[in-house]
Amino acid sequence: MSQFSQHSFANEKVLVRVDFNVPLNDKYEITDDTRMRAAIPTIKKILSDGGSVILMSHLGRPKDGPTEKYSLKHLVPHLQQLLNATGQPNVPVLFADDCIGEKAVLTARMLRPGEVLLLENLRFYKEEEKGDKAFAEKLSRLGDVYVNDAFGTAHRAHASTAVIAQFFPKDKRMFGLLMESEVRSAEKVLHEAQKPSVAIIGGAKVSDKILIIENLLERATDIIIGGGMAYTFIKAQGGKIGNSLCEDDRLDTARELMKKAEAKGVRIHLPSDSIIADKFDANANDSAAPSNNIPDGWMGLDIGENACEQFTNVIHKSKTILWNGPMGVFEMAKFQHGTKAIAKAVAEATQKGAFSLVGGGDSVAAVNQFGYADKVSYVSTGGGAMLEYFEGKQLPGIAAVNA
Ligand code: AMP
Repeated sequence: MSQFSQHSFANEKVLVRVDFNVPLNDKYEITDDTRMRAAIPTIKKILSDGGSVILMSHLGRPKDGPTEKYSLKHLVPHLQQLLNATGQPNVPVLFADDCIGEKAVLTARMLRPGEVLLLENLRFYKEEEKGDKAFAEKLSRLGDVYVNDAFGTAHRAHASTAVIAQFFPKDKRMFGLLMESEVRSAEKVLHEAQKPSVAIIGGAKVSDKILIIENLLERATDIIIGGGMAYTFIKAQGGKIGNSLCEDDRLDTARELMKKAEAKGVRIHLPSDSIIADKFDANANDSAAPSNNIPDGWMGLDIGENACEQFTNVIHKSKTILWNGPMGVFEMAKFQHGTKAIAKAVAEATQKGAFSLVGGGDSVAAVNQFGYADKVSYVSTGGGAMLEYFEGKQLPGIAAVNA
């Protein structure tokens, strides 16, 4: 059992770093509350133990101190609703319009078991992003225990995500339930993978994914490369890619990655065919072509029918699956078939017992959009953080709690 689950928070004031960086529209309504919902189990456990919760988060990227647009006060009614829906009705949710200072200290001190206090946006202080030690120490005075449940910002060495941990003894600093499950899932894919193990990497740019592919060459048996980035690899092999996306300065890198894969016995799968378009537009004319023989003036915007079948076969044979990045321009109806087919294949493999993790930005959006989110083993909430984890980097937010 984990440390968080084992700990009794009775009568403790628990300072929880959450990632409430949710999108708001111009009426300050939350347009996607996934990140807030993800933090509820941690809050609920502390409250039911008889502890009180002090929540701290950032919201957006405020440049000049306090700004109405970035105030966390807009989140209070929805937080209240989410907590009421957990079966613990009428949890008092207080708000402090400053995350440090006398008022925050007093409100935190007066907080009673079963109550929740949300602090104002941490990034209203420049010290947060600078990882300022004195600021972190001030924040630390608000609670008896520090819980980091903000996986989405675990790759940042900020005051509230990393620096603060040192002000709490080892048994009073820990990960929350969300952070634990993110780390556990990533570990299953990276270090405890059952073979065959496939990594499906897609998206626009090779340059964004080089480090991930390099790290996965050490761990996966198969790497599927789709999306816009596949064309740099296809051109590197001598293919004709028309006007498809290509990073000419990465052709050598692509060749090196393929050479390394061969030396290690890792199979790299590129899409044999593509759905091509005469312009980058939802209403473009479309056709199909071998991925290494795309006519001039045309560009590959999705993987083709054969590639869907080819990739599906690999996925169906795998026991561990990591998926990052779409197979095509899935935002446009004409070019979403490949991404949908891969989502379906991952769901089917999961159904047969494979462990599947979907992580990082657009592939998460895709599984949500196509209705497969509850048919895979785990969907990560942390975009950039999960990417850095897959790259094999140590995340400061994790290292600080473990130190
Ligand atoms: P990334 O953020 O690198 O994971 O890339 C995601 C973006 O890549 C999405 O917005 C897709 O529309 C885009 N994308 C995927 N495949 C292609 C392609 N073949 N050509 C151009 N853009 C693509």
